[in-house]
Amino acid sequence: MVMENPHQTNVVKGALHDRGLRMTPQRILILSLFHNSSAGDHLSADDVHQRLTQNETPMSLSTVYRTLHLMSQMGVLRELELAEDHKYYELNPRSDESHHHLVCIRCTKTIEFKSETMQKVGEKVAKGSGFALLDCQLVIHALCPICQRSM
Ligand SMILES: [Zn+2]
Ligand SMILES: [Zn+2]
Repeated sequence: MVMENPHQTNVVKGALHDRGLRMTPQRILILSLFHNSSAGDHLSADDVHQRLTQNETPMSLSTVYRTLHLMSQMGVLRELELAEDHKYYELNPRSDESHHHLVCIRCTKTIEFKSETMQKVGEKVAKGSGFALLDCQLVIHALCPICQRSM
């Protein structure tokens, strides 16, 4: 069960507290899910909904949607437009761990990569217009080797 690890719970509470978010049970549950999933795991609202049900902590899909959206606005999660009409979420990495995504448009297999060049471009462009850079993400849409072979 997700919530039985007290250390984990404290990490999650800390993450919410740092950003001035109230620790509603729903937010803690959803954030725990992301903390417990492996790096490079990108979850859609449906995935989150399904995992909560599997963990016997069911939540309505609309609450999941609302909570994911809110936590993205607060900068706890990062909203990713990896496939058309499909939003995915991941923990918002610290800026020095920021990464980009290479996505297969057919099977949505996703590979993360880092790029200092992209980070510099983001900073330069933002600064040039007097903006403060918060996040810089590049999504490369492509066909993975397996999907190329099956075409
Ligand atoms: Zn990612
Ligand atoms: Zn593919």
